[in-house]
Amino acid sequence: MINSFIKISKLQFVRVIYWLFLTYMVAAFIWWYVTLVKQNDQIANVQYGSIQSSDPSIAKKVNAIQDYQLRKNKQYIGEGLTIIFLFLLGAIYVYRSLIKQIRYSNQQQNFMMAVTHELKTPIAITQLNIETLLKRNLDPDQQRKMLEVSLLETQRLDNLCNNILLASQLDMGQYQTNTQSFDFSFIVNSVVKIFQSRFPERSFIANVQEAVQIKGESVLIQLLLNNLIDNAIKYSGIESPIKIDLEEKNRLIILKVKDEGVGVPVNDKEKIFEKFYRVGAEYTRSTKGTGLGLYLCKRIAMFHHAKLEVSANSPKGSIFTFTYSAE
Ligand code: ADP
Repeated sequence: MINSFIKISKLQFVRVIYWLFLTYMVAAFIWWYVTLVKQNDQIANVQYGSIQSSDPSIAKKVNAIQDYQLRKNKQYIGEGLTIIFLFLLGAIYVYRSLIKQIRYSNQQQNFMMAVTHELKTPIAITQLNIETLLKRNLDPDQQRKMLEVSLLETQRLDNLCNNILLASQLDMGQYQTNTQSFDFSFIVNSVVKIFQSRFPERSFIANVQEAVQIKGESVLIQLLLNNLIDNAIKYSGIESPIKIDLEEKNRLIILKVKDEGVGVPVNDKEKIFEKFYRVGAEYTRSTKGTGLGLYLCKRIAMFHHAKLEVSANSPKGSIFTFTYSAE
Protein backbone atom coordinates (compact mmCIF):
# COMPACT_ATOMS: atom_id res chain seq x y z
CA MET A 1 0.00 0.00 0.00
CA ILE A 2 2.78 2.38 0.98
CA ASN A 3 4.62 1.35 -2.14
CA SER A 4 1.69 2.32 -4.40
CA PHE A 5 1.31 5.60 -2.52
CA ILE A 6 4.98 6.41 -3.16
CA LYS A 7 4.56 5.56 -6.86
CA ILE A 8 1.53 7.85 -7.19
CA SER A 9 3.43 10.61 -5.39
CA LYS A 10 6.41 10.16 -7.72
CA LEU A 11 4.14 10.64 -10.72
CA GLN A 12 2.53 13.71 -9.15
CA PHE A 13 5.96 15.05 -8.17
CA VAL A 14 7.25 14.74 -11.76
CA ARG A 15 4.08 16.44 -13.02
CA VAL A 16 4.38 19.39 -10.62
CA ILE A 17 8.11 19.90 -11.28
CA TYR A 18 7.57 19.65 -15.02
CA TRP A 19 4.75 22.19 -15.13
CA LEU A 20 6.69 24.56 -12.85
CA PHE A 21 9.70 24.30 -15.16
CA LEU A 22 7.55 24.82 -18.24
CA THR A 23 5.77 27.86 -16.73
CA TYR A 24 9.15 29.32 -15.75
CA MET A 25 10.52 28.84 -19.28
CA VAL A 26 7.48 30.43 -20.96
CA ALA A 27 7.58 33.34 -18.45
CA ALA A 28 11.32 33.78 -19.18
CA PHE A 29 10.58 33.94 -22.94
CA ILE A 30 7.90 36.58 -22.37
CA TRP A 31 10.29 38.53 -20.12
CA TRP A 32 13.01 38.42 -22.80
CA TYR A 33 10.54 39.67 -25.37
CA VAL A 34 9.42 42.59 -23.16
CA THR A 35 13.10 43.48 -22.45
CA LEU A 36 14.00 43.39 -26.15
CA VAL A 37 11.03 45.61 -27.08
CA LYS A 38 12.02 48.08 -24.35
CA GLN A 39 15.62 48.06 -25.58
CA ASN A 40 14.33 48.65 -29.09
CA ASP A 41 12.30 51.66 -27.89
CA GLN A 42 15.36 53.06 -26.08
CA ILE A 43 17.51 52.73 -29.25
CA ALA A 44 14.77 54.49 -31.24
CA ASN A 45 14.62 57.30 -28.65
CA VAL A 46 18.39 57.78 -28.83
CA GLN A 47 18.16 57.86 -32.63
CA TYR A 48 15.29 60.41 -32.47
CA GLY A 49 17.44 62.55 -30.14
CA SER A 50 20.33 62.57 -32.58
CA ILE A 51 18.21 64.13 -35.36
CA GLN A 52 18.67 67.90 -35.67
CA SER A 53 15.37 69.80 -35.71
CA SER A 54 16.75 71.90 -38.56
CA ASP A 55 17.49 68.81 -40.63
CA PRO A 56 15.53 69.09 -43.94
CA SER A 57 15.10 65.28 -44.18
CA ILE A 58 13.72 64.94 -40.63
CA ALA A 59 10.45 63.28 -41.71
CA LYS A 60 12.31 60.72 -43.80
CA LYS A 61 14.68 59.91 -40.93
CA VAL A 62 11.82 59.57 -38.39
CA ASN A 63 10.01 57.23 -40.80
CA ALA A 64 13.18 55.15 -41.23
CA ILE A 65 13.58 54.84 -37.43
CA GLN A 66 9.90 53.87 -37.03
CA ASP A 67 10.15 51.31 -39.85
CA TYR A 68 13.25 49.78 -38.28
CA GLN A 69 11.61 49.68 -34.86
CA LEU A 70 8.48 47.99 -36.26
CA ARG A 71 10.54 45.49 -38.26
CA LYS A 72 12.58 44.59 -35.17
CA ASN A 73 9.43 44.14 -33.04
CA LYS A 74 7.92 41.86 -35.71
CA GLN A 75 11.17 39.90 -35.85
CA TYR A 76 11.13 39.39 -32.05
CA ILE A 77 7.50 38.25 -32.15
CA GLY A 78 8.10 35.87 -35.09
CA GLU A 79 11.28 34.34 -33.74
CA GLY A 80 9.93 34.23 -30.16
CA LEU A 81 6.73 32.43 -31.20
CA THR A 82 8.67 29.92 -33.33
CA ILE A 83 11.05 29.16 -30.46
CA ILE A 84 8.18 28.85 -27.95
CA PHE A 85 6.27 26.58 -30.36
CA LEU A 86 9.28 24.30 -30.93
CA PHE A 87 10.11 24.34 -27.25
CA LEU A 88 6.54 23.39 -26.24
CA LEU A 89 6.44 20.66 -28.89
CA GLY A 90 9.64 19.14 -27.53
CA ALA A 91 8.52 19.62 -23.93
CA ILE A 92 5.17 17.89 -24.55
CA TYR A 93 6.93 15.01 -26.30
CA VAL A 94 9.41 14.57 -23.43
CA TYR A 95 6.64 14.93 -20.84
CA ARG A 96 4.47 12.26 -22.47
CA SER A 97 7.40 9.85 -22.83
CA LEU A 98 8.39 10.41 -19.22
CA ILE A 99 4.90 9.80 -17.85
CA LYS A 100 4.52 6.74 -20.07
CA GLN A 101 7.85 5.41 -18.86
CA ILE A 102 6.99 5.95 -15.18
CA ARG A 103 3.57 4.32 -15.65
CA TYR A 104 5.09 1.39 -17.48
CA SER A 105 7.72 0.85 -14.85
CA ASN A 106 5.06 1.04 -12.07
CA GLN A 107 2.91 -1.46 -13.94
CA GLN A 108 5.91 -3.72 -14.44
CA GLN A 109 6.64 -3.63 -10.70
CA ASN A 110 2.99 -4.39 -9.95
CA PHE A 111 3.18 -7.22 -12.45
CA MET A 112 6.24 -8.67 -10.74
CA MET A 113 4.48 -8.53 -7.36
CA ALA A 114 1.30 -10.02 -8.78
CA VAL A 115 3.12 -12.73 -10.70
CA THR A 116 5.14 -13.75 -7.64
CA HIS A 117 1.94 -13.97 -5.65
CA GLU A 118 0.09 -15.79 -8.44
CA LEU A 119 2.89 -18.34 -8.80
CA LYS A 120 3.39 -18.94 -5.11
CA THR A 121 -0.26 -19.35 -4.11
CA PRO A 122 -1.14 -22.38 -6.29
CA ILE A 123 2.19 -24.03 -5.43
CA ALA A 124 1.62 -23.50 -1.70
CA ILE A 125 -1.98 -24.78 -1.84
CA THR A 126 -1.08 -27.86 -3.89
CA GLN A 127 1.89 -28.63 -1.65
CA LEU A 128 -0.25 -28.36 1.48
CA ASN A 129 -2.95 -30.60 -0.01
CA ILE A 130 -0.46 -33.28 -1.03
CA GLU A 131 1.20 -33.19 2.39
CA THR A 132 -2.20 -33.53 4.09
CA LEU A 133 -3.15 -36.43 1.81
CA LEU A 134 0.12 -38.19 2.64
CA LYS A 135 0.00 -37.63 6.38
CA ARG A 136 -3.67 -38.18 7.12
CA ASN A 137 -6.09 -40.94 6.44
CA LEU A 138 -8.94 -38.94 4.96
CA ASP A 139 -12.20 -40.35 3.68
CA PRO A 140 -12.58 -40.64 -0.13
CA ASP A 141 -14.86 -37.60 -0.32
CA GLN A 142 -12.35 -35.35 1.43
CA GLN A 143 -9.52 -36.78 -0.65
CA ARG A 144 -11.43 -36.05 -3.83
CA LYS A 145 -12.15 -32.48 -2.74
CA MET A 146 -8.48 -31.86 -2.00
CA LEU A 147 -7.40 -33.32 -5.32
CA GLU A 148 -9.97 -31.19 -7.18
CA VAL A 149 -8.72 -28.01 -5.49
CA SER A 150 -5.12 -28.95 -6.33
CA LEU A 151 -6.09 -29.63 -9.94
CA LEU A 152 -7.80 -26.24 -10.18
CA GLU A 153 -4.72 -24.54 -8.76
CA THR A 154 -2.35 -26.32 -11.17
CA GLN A 155 -4.63 -25.34 -14.06
CA ARG A 156 -4.41 -21.73 -12.90
CA LEU A 157 -0.64 -22.03 -12.76
CA ASP A 158 -0.54 -23.61 -16.21
CA ASN A 159 -2.71 -20.80 -17.58
CA LEU A 160 -0.43 -18.16 -16.08
CA CYS A 161 2.72 -19.82 -17.45
CA ASN A 162 1.13 -20.10 -20.90
CA ASN A 163 0.20 -16.41 -20.80
CA ILE A 164 3.70 -15.30 -19.78
CA LEU A 165 5.45 -17.52 -22.32
CA LEU A 166 3.15 -16.58 -25.15
CA ALA A 167 3.34 -12.86 -24.39
CA SER A 168 7.13 -12.94 -24.64
CA GLN A 169 7.03 -15.08 -27.82
CA LEU A 170 4.55 -12.73 -29.50
CA ASP A 171 6.48 -9.66 -28.32
CA MET A 172 9.73 -10.98 -29.77
CA GLY A 173 8.08 -12.25 -32.96
CA GLN A 174 9.19 -15.77 -32.12
CA TYR A 175 5.81 -17.48 -32.16
CA GLN A 176 5.86 -20.57 -34.42
CA THR A 177 2.75 -20.34 -36.56
CA ASN A 178 0.60 -23.30 -37.43
CA THR A 179 -2.39 -21.66 -39.08
CA GLN A 180 -5.17 -23.92 -40.30
CA SER A 181 -8.94 -24.10 -40.66
CA PHE A 182 -10.76 -25.47 -37.64
CA ASP A 183 -14.21 -25.77 -36.11
CA PHE A 184 -14.62 -22.68 -33.89
CA SER A 185 -18.00 -23.90 -32.59
CA PHE A 186 -16.40 -27.11 -31.34
CA ILE A 187 -13.66 -25.17 -29.51
CA VAL A 188 -16.17 -22.80 -27.88
CA ASN A 189 -18.41 -25.68 -26.75
CA SER A 190 -15.47 -27.65 -25.34
CA VAL A 191 -14.01 -24.66 -23.48
CA VAL A 192 -17.41 -23.81 -21.97
CA LYS A 193 -17.83 -27.46 -20.93
CA ILE A 194 -14.44 -27.44 -19.19
CA PHE A 195 -15.30 -24.21 -17.38
CA GLN A 196 -18.65 -25.62 -16.32
CA SER A 197 -16.96 -28.65 -14.77
CA ARG A 198 -14.30 -26.50 -13.11
CA PHE A 199 -16.86 -24.05 -11.73
CA PRO A 200 -20.05 -26.06 -11.13
CA GLU A 201 -21.45 -23.28 -8.93
CA ARG A 202 -21.43 -20.80 -11.86
CA SER A 203 -23.97 -20.61 -14.65
CA PHE A 204 -22.58 -20.61 -18.22
CA ILE A 205 -25.06 -20.05 -21.03
CA ALA A 206 -23.65 -20.91 -24.46
CA ASN A 207 -25.46 -19.86 -27.58
CA VAL A 208 -23.23 -21.32 -30.27
CA GLN A 209 -24.05 -21.52 -33.96
CA GLU A 210 -23.03 -24.93 -35.30
CA ALA A 211 -20.05 -25.58 -37.59
CA VAL A 212 -18.54 -22.10 -37.71
CA GLN A 213 -15.19 -22.53 -39.46
CA ILE A 214 -12.32 -20.17 -38.79
CA LYS A 215 -8.78 -20.00 -40.15
CA GLY A 216 -6.13 -19.42 -37.52
CA GLU A 217 -4.34 -20.83 -34.54
CA SER A 218 -6.65 -23.01 -32.48
CA VAL A 219 -4.29 -22.88 -29.46
CA LEU A 220 -4.31 -19.09 -29.46
CA ILE A 221 -8.07 -18.82 -29.97
CA GLN A 222 -8.56 -21.24 -27.09
CA LEU A 223 -6.31 -19.11 -24.90
CA LEU A 224 -8.26 -15.98 -25.84
CA LEU A 225 -11.52 -17.64 -24.90
CA ASN A 226 -10.02 -18.99 -21.65
CA ASN A 227 -8.84 -15.52 -20.64
CA LEU A 228 -12.15 -13.83 -21.49
CA ILE A 229 -14.23 -16.39 -19.58
CA ASP A 230 -11.75 -16.39 -16.72
CA ASN A 231 -12.15 -12.62 -16.43
CA ALA A 232 -15.94 -12.84 -16.66
CA ILE A 233 -15.82 -15.23 -13.68
CA LYS A 234 -13.36 -13.08 -11.73
CA TYR A 235 -15.12 -9.76 -12.22
CA SER A 236 -18.73 -10.82 -11.63
CA GLY A 237 -20.70 -12.20 -8.71
CA ILE A 238 -21.17 -15.93 -8.21
CA GLU A 239 -24.93 -15.66 -8.78
CA SER A 240 -24.76 -13.86 -12.14
CA PRO A 241 -24.64 -15.87 -15.39
CA ILE A 242 -21.92 -15.74 -18.03
CA LYS A 243 -23.12 -15.85 -21.61
CA ILE A 244 -21.01 -16.97 -24.54
CA ASP A 245 -22.40 -16.35 -28.03
CA LEU A 246 -20.90 -17.39 -31.35
CA GLU A 247 -22.42 -16.63 -34.73
CA GLU A 248 -21.43 -16.08 -38.33
CA LYS A 249 -23.20 -13.22 -40.09
CA ASN A 250 -22.33 -11.65 -43.45
CA ARG A 251 -18.93 -13.36 -43.50
CA LEU A 252 -18.20 -11.99 -40.03
CA ILE A 253 -17.55 -14.40 -37.19
CA ILE A 254 -18.60 -12.81 -33.91
CA LEU A 255 -17.78 -14.18 -30.49
CA LYS A 256 -19.19 -12.46 -27.43
CA VAL A 257 -18.43 -13.12 -23.77
CA LYS A 258 -20.95 -11.32 -21.58
CA ASP A 259 -21.01 -10.93 -17.83
CA GLU A 260 -23.10 -8.97 -15.35
CA GLY A 261 -20.24 -7.95 -13.10
CA VAL A 262 -18.46 -4.74 -12.14
CA GLY A 263 -18.03 -3.54 -15.74
CA VAL A 264 -15.13 -1.54 -17.17
CA PRO A 265 -15.00 2.23 -16.49
CA VAL A 266 -15.29 4.28 -19.71
CA ASN A 267 -11.82 5.78 -19.23
CA ASP A 268 -10.24 2.34 -19.01
CA LYS A 269 -11.83 0.81 -22.13
CA GLU A 270 -8.65 1.12 -24.17
CA LYS A 271 -6.16 0.91 -21.33
CA ILE A 272 -7.23 -2.56 -20.11
CA PHE A 273 -5.68 -3.99 -23.28
CA GLU A 274 -2.27 -2.55 -22.39
CA LYS A 275 0.40 -4.82 -20.96
CA PHE A 276 0.22 -5.17 -17.14
CA TYR A 277 -2.65 -2.67 -16.85
CA ARG A 278 -5.19 -3.35 -14.10
CA VAL A 279 -8.14 -1.09 -13.26
CA GLY A 280 -7.82 0.88 -10.02
CA ALA A 281 -4.93 1.24 -7.63
CA GLU A 282 -2.98 -1.91 -6.83
CA TYR A 283 -3.71 -1.74 -3.11
CA THR A 284 -7.48 -1.44 -3.58
CA ARG A 285 -7.73 -4.47 -5.88
CA SER A 286 -8.90 -7.66 -4.31
CA THR A 287 -8.99 -9.92 -7.39
CA LYS A 288 -6.06 -12.02 -8.44
CA GLY A 289 -4.39 -11.20 -11.71
CA THR A 290 -1.38 -9.88 -13.56
CA GLY A 291 -2.77 -7.52 -16.20
CA LEU A 292 -1.45 -9.75 -18.94
CA GLY A 293 -4.60 -11.62 -20.02
CA LEU A 294 -6.32 -8.93 -22.08
CA TYR A 295 -3.03 -7.73 -23.58
CA LEU A 296 -2.56 -11.26 -24.87
CA CYS A 297 -6.17 -11.43 -26.10
CA LYS A 298 -5.60 -8.22 -28.07
CA ARG A 299 -2.34 -9.59 -29.52
CA ILE A 300 -4.13 -12.81 -30.48
CA ALA A 301 -6.92 -10.81 -32.15
CA MET A 302 -4.32 -8.76 -34.06
CA PHE A 303 -2.55 -11.97 -35.05
CA HIS A 304 -5.82 -13.08 -36.69
CA HIS A 305 -6.48 -9.61 -38.21
CA ALA A 306 -9.53 -9.53 -35.98
CA LYS A 307 -10.95 -6.93 -33.58
CA LEU A 308 -11.40 -7.20 -29.83
CA GLU A 309 -13.50 -4.59 -28.08
CA VAL A 310 -15.27 -4.09 -24.79
CA SER A 311 -18.67 -2.52 -24.32
CA ALA A 312 -21.11 -2.14 -21.45
CA ASN A 313 -23.65 -4.88 -20.81
CA SER A 314 -27.19 -4.06 -19.74
CA PRO A 315 -28.14 -3.54 -16.91
CA LYS A 316 -24.51 -4.00 -15.77
CA GLY A 317 -21.28 -5.78 -16.59
CA SER A 318 -19.22 -6.05 -19.76
CA ILE A 319 -19.36 -7.58 -23.21
CA PHE A 320 -16.08 -8.56 -24.85
CA THR A 321 -16.56 -8.93 -28.61
CA PHE A 322 -14.11 -10.69 -30.92
CA THR A 323 -14.89 -10.00 -34.58
CA TYR A 324 -13.15 -11.98 -37.28
CA SER A 325 -13.63 -11.39 -40.98
CA ALA A 326 -13.94 -14.67 -42.88
CA GLU A 327 -13.20 -13.00 -46.27
P1 ADP B 1 -5.98 -9.41 -14.86
O1 ADP B 1 -4.97 -10.48 -14.68
O2 ADP B 1 -5.82 -8.26 -13.94
O3 ADP B 1 -7.38 -9.93 -14.88
P2 ADP B 1 -6.38 -8.69 -17.64
O4 ADP B 1 -5.40 -8.20 -18.63
O5 ADP B 1 -7.11 -9.94 -17.96
O6 ADP B 1 -5.60 -8.80 -16.27
O7 ADP B 1 -7.43 -7.54 -17.40
C1 ADP B 1 -6.99 -6.21 -17.18
C2 ADP B 1 -7.98 -5.45 -16.31
O8 ADP B 1 -9.20 -5.27 -17.02
C3 ADP B 1 -8.36 -6.22 -15.04
O9 ADP B 1 -7.45 -5.95 -14.00
C4 ADP B 1 -9.75 -5.69 -14.75
O10 ADP B 1 -9.66 -4.50 -14.00
C5 ADP B 1 -10.32 -5.34 -16.14
N1 ADP B 1 -11.23 -6.39 -16.64
C6 ADP B 1 -10.92 -7.42 -17.46
N2 ADP B 1 -12.00 -8.17 -17.73
C7 ADP B 1 -13.03 -7.60 -17.07
C8 ADP B 1 -14.44 -7.90 -16.94
N3 ADP B 1 -15.00 -8.95 -17.55
N4 ADP B 1 -15.19 -7.06 -16.19
C9 ADP B 1 -14.65 -5.99 -15.57
N5 ADP B 1 -13.33 -5.65 -15.66
C10 ADP B 1 -12.54 -6.45 -16.38
